[in-house]
Amino acid sequence: MSLQYYERLSNKNKAYLWHPFTQMKDYNRSDPLIIERAEGVRLFDVQGNAYFDGFSSVWLNVHGHNIPELNKAITDQLGQLAHSTLLGMANVPAIELAEKLIQLAPSGLNKVFYSDSGATGVEIAIKMAFQYWHNQGCHQKKSFITMNQAYHGDTIGAVSVGAIPLYHDVFRPMLFPSHTIPYPYAYRHKDGAAGAKEATLTALRTLLETRSEEVAALIVEPIVQGASGIIVMPPGCLREMALLCRQYDVLFIADEVATGFGRTGAMFACDLEGVSPDLMVIGKGLTGGYLPVAATLATDEIYDAFYADYEEQKTFFHGHSFTGNPLGCAVAIASLKLFEERNLLTTVRTNASFVERKLHMLTERPHVGEIRQKGLMIGIELVRDKASREPYDWADRIGVRVTMRARELGLLTRPLGNVVVFIPPLASTSDELDAMLDILADSIIDVTEGDAA
Ligand code: PMP
Repeated sequence: MSLQYYERLSNKNKAYLWHPFTQMKDYNRSDPLIIERAEGVRLFDVQGNAYFDGFSSVWLNVHGHNIPELNKAITDQLGQLAHSTLLGMANVPAIELAEKLIQLAPSGLNKVFYSDSGATGVEIAIKMAFQYWHNQGCHQKKSFITMNQAYHGDTIGAVSVGAIPLYHDVFRPMLFPSHTIPYPYAYRHKDGAAGAKEATLTALRTLLETRSEEVAALIVEPIVQGASGIIVMPPGCLREMALLCRQYDVLFIADEVATGFGRTGAMFACDLEGVSPDLMVIGKGLTGGYLPVAATLATDEIYDAFYADYEEQKTFFHGHSFTGNPLGCAVAIASLKLFEERNLLTTVRTNASFVERKLHMLTERPHVGEIRQKGLMIGIELVRDKASREPYDWADRIGVRVTMRARELGLLTRPLGNVVVFIPPLASTSDELDAMLDILADSIIDVTEGDAA
């Protein structure tokens, strides 16, 4: 592609697009990366440069890009029906996918409510939890418990149960208040994993003992808190949180948007601890990362609280125009079929062990504070001083610099503050992972130990 073509696109990109989570003044000083096509685990820009997709195009790609079976599922469906609606009617892929999801989900989740993004799926879970109590006359059970540094999406309800000050504080005056308990961040807790877990469970127990009659639900990113820096819960913590909720009659909402569909090595992170939530939100990997479909899964008990004669006013008045989109549902079915045919969960576990072994090469580096991993969700926390765990200053932009270096070397990812994220497509081969990790390690070493460090 000619330089003029790139420059024309680059100028139009800067003139017309407002990018998400981006300070546009910074962005407009850079040479934008403009992706044109993709194949397997690689993305290609308009100038023909290849990059590994080291963050699965925002944590959602499963089988790689441009997969013939997935493409075919979309084109076949396109010849039948691109979209109709679930308002008063159904469509074939939406029905078939719902059945499949219920077979795969933790036991007890028997109903599927579709939406189109993780955030809308979370909105639905929150509204369902609220109205579940309302429909039973428990009007006082209307607040939510969330975890420190939680991220559940960017719509107003999802931000209300979000707790990342950098993203959420500005909106606080327009949000409903939530109770926050500490997330068990073992690396930054003075008593490590055991102390962090105890602090979380104690805070939850105390809150439930004193306030459970006004709490509708607890919402959690199970096992791995993603956007806060890929922080892995100590074993048993999720299960104990779920048990406490049950004990105190508070609903348990699992936000599996990031962790679902094999990302942690199990189909859902809740499976790792045998947890059956009351509501579960899924998105991202649901369609293999191809099209925007999300869903909120509910138990019969929740569904039944809405099941009444119309005059009783128990209907769930919520829905999105593209709910249950047939193209999205068709590709989700095809993705789940590939999961089974290719035994993808086994591949994820093998890949995860490979990555874990390979990442040992970084453990002794002077600025690698902690390497956190669950399945193929990896976060590498960089620190200014390893012994004292002193973090880098925000202004050092260490994560951004590492990912810019990685991009120069042919690997794409996005940092979370001082945490370098590695979330490769689940179906990556070991050779591909090997090459990606070499680049990741070189980038970390170049930036934290090189001349410009
Ligand atoms: N919940 C979690 C745990 C997430 O990680 C995300 C997105 N990263 C969301 C919700 C929001 O999903 P979406 O971006 O599709 O709205």
